[in-house]
Amino acid sequence: MTDVLQQTQQLERDFLLPTYDRFAVQFERGEGAYLYDVEGKRYLDFLSGIGVNALGYGHPAISAVLHQQADKLIHASNLFYNAYQGKLAQKLCAISGLDKVFFANTGTEAWEAAIKMTRLYAARLESPKTKLLAMKNSFHGRTIGSISTTGQDKYRKPFEPAMPDVVFVDFNDVADLARKFDDSVAAIMLETIQGEGGVQPVSKEFLLAARELTKKTGALLILDEIQCGLGRTGKWFAYQHYGVTPDIVTIAKPIAGGLPLGAMICSNAVAQTMKPGLHGTTFGGGPLACAVALEVLNVIESEGLLAKAKTTGDYFAAKLSALAKKNDCIRNIRGMGLMVAAELDSADVAKATVVTMLEKGFVINRTNEKVLRFLPPFVITTGHVDQLVAALGEVLTTCVSKQAENAHA
Ligand SMILES: *Cc1c(COP(=O)(O)O)cnc(C)c1O
Repeated sequence: MTDVLQQTQQLERDFLLPTYDRFAVQFERGEGAYLYDVEGKRYLDFLSGIGVNALGYGHPAISAVLHQQADKLIHASNLFYNAYQGKLAQKLCAISGLDKVFFANTGTEAWEAAIKMTRLYAARLESPKTKLLAMKNSFHGRTIGSISTTGQDKYRKPFEPAMPDVVFVDFNDVADLARKFDDSVAAIMLETIQGEGGVQPVSKEFLLAARELTKKTGALLILDEIQCGLGRTGKWFAYQHYGVTPDIVTIAKPIAGGLPLGAMICSNAVAQTMKPGLHGTTFGGGPLACAVALEVLNVIESEGLLAKAKTTGDYFAAKLSALAKKNDCIRNIRGMGLMVAAELDSADVAKATVVTMLEKGFVINRTNEKVLRFLPPFVITTGHVDQLVAALGEVLTTCVSKQAENAHA
């Protein structure tokens, strides 16, 4: 271990709130799909900063816009106009099929805006509805509104009391949804593909049922695409694979090339309930983040990255499925486009696999205990996929033999 890393670790131990149990790696720079640590060791990145760095690292177009705009203006406040917020909103409406945008800084703030819009929308009624149907095994962020609608105890329980009137539904269980839905429900809210929950896509049957139920009573359908949205699945939005349009969608992670930016996009009917002064943010939608985000969307289009996410993602899933056939550690392969998961038999093996892969120079991630999650940059190639799957095959063979040894011991 280098002095540099040791010094960093000591400083953090002394002065930082220990919110993360970090791996013993300090990254210094990136290039394309590769990251380099302080020792100069190279890693192939299949996580992209948890779904953020869709264009990989050091993209020249992003770097150019970032420098130009930083020289001109970084921040001026939402009390004034800037050149990019309107243009970016126009683009997001065009690709989402929705009508109006609110810019925040993070995913959880975008989700908070969705919850607040639900309250405003319900306020038009004589007796406003407040009940929200959210999903078990979901994840929507770390603020109180977000954890209140997050159906995993580990994120919510330590911070209770949560926001009242949230009912959790078994994800993809249409009967449970129908049983819990009634006229008092203000919104059904879900991730189109559960991310932290282990890469679990919503079933077509469930999403169509949610759309139909909400249409009948005037409740809202709210989709969280903070992780799966903006091209990762091969379409701009994952809901576009289902032929369903929500009333509200939230996005964030990949939108501004690694700068913090989130957005809540909604229909005109929902948007009509907003008035100046009711909601806001100091930083959200600033000129720097919005200028970069416009360029990110341009590059996704000009480099054909939606199609590439689909073809490379399909290739990746097929390769993993082939590996799963001959490897007892892997129970299931699932995903859409470049949001892919390999569920293993054991949480311990999954945990060890991430560490061993890191030693071998591959950044991957584990979520929901047993699930290896892959969120590579869209610029990843089939050659990169071959390297990753070959390495994973080697590591998981070790796991099998280790398990067998343990069983004998
Ligand atoms: C990451 C994530 C969030 C929270 O985003 P932050 O930027 O960390 O606040 C919310 N929902 C989903 C689906 C996410 O993946």
